[in-house]
Amino acid sequence: MFIQVTNASTDGQLETIRDEVLGAGFSQAIVSLGEEITVINCIGAVAHERKLTLRDYFLNLPGVIGVEIAKTPYRLTSRESHPGNFSVQLNGISIGGNEPIVVMAGPCAVESLEQVKKTADAVKASGAKALRGGAFKPRKSRFAYQGLGEEGLKILAQIGQETCLPIVTEVISPDMVGLVAEYADILQIGTANMNNYELLKAVGQCDRPVILKRGMAAQVDELLLAAEYIVAEGNSRVVLCLRGIRTFETGHTRFTADIGTIPVLKKLTHYPVIFDPSHPAGDRELVTDYSLAAIAAGADGLLIEVHYDPPSAKCDGPQSLYPEQFASLMEKVAALAQIMGRSV
Ligand code: PEP
Ligand code: MN
Repeated sequence: MFIQVTNASTDGQLETIRDEVLGAGFSQAIVSLGEEITVINCIGAVAHERKLTLRDYFLNLPGVIGVEIAKTPYRLTSRESHPGNFSVQLNGISIGGNEPIVVMAGPCAVESLEQVKKTADAVKASGAKALRGGAFKPRKSRFAYQGLGEEGLKILAQIGQETCLPIVTEVISPDMVGLVAEYADILQIGTANMNNYELLKAVGQCDRPVILKRGMAAQVDELLLAAEYIVAEGNSRVVLCLRGIRTFETGHTRFTADIGTIPVLKKLTHYPVIFDPSHPAGDRELVTDYSLAAIAAGADGLLIEVHYDPPSAKCDGPQSLYPEQFASLMEKVAALAQIMGRSV
């Protein structure tokens, strides 16, 4: 169950409510601050009948404006507990809520200082608000390019400073979260790791926003439950990212673009939802159409692969946009955003 508390309540009142929740037999009382209200999520095996009694009791505590019994399996990410939308703040940009659409772009993988510099300059000039690039690449084949590791992080941090673009980069194991967070502004959890619960807990304990990508065979509920592993550790700066799922289609697209899931997530959760058009496409010729479709479906942002010279890319070259293609995409995204009542 969850308790809705007015944001005007005092720390003392919140403390009293938490104590009452724990005293009533719940094992945890997780406080999540919202823009309009604060929610205390009561976690633990407490019988339904007892919850009905407790509901009336909790309703009378000072500061409490509502008490509900959760209907969905996910608690911390469910829209039923939080009215309004949640926006994730980062170095002066905000993702989600009614904020402008945020486009993050850059190469699939960091290859060299020159490659990142040229690509970053190009995406910045076209209006990207963050620079993406993988230093640690979780590849299907052990013999495919695995990334530059810490050297790649240093390159990203340097170019991030020079361009004033926040850095998005992937972290692939719990023991590396501290290292990646030293250099990166936003941590990315890739599709291969959506179910890596120890990694989710580790980024949950880290003071960095997290882009959580949907597992390629994960159901929507599983994505939200995975996000709760992060939020439950105290990190509520989570951005959900759809990036295509595996279906019976194998010949014409790399994955099937799950654009129809954007409004579904928007209905279920108050957390920001972004779309990666590059990985479902697998082909740069599809990336603009997928991006526009995602914005039309309500996405709060895009995560796009761009390379200053895609034929030379060590990873995901065929789906990486040329800088000119990215510039033209950005113009179309801006025009569509206006129709959607937003900006870029
Ligand atoms: C990536 O963003 O380059 C990446 C590896 O993405 P995904 O985890 O969605 O495959
Ligand atoms: Mn990639």
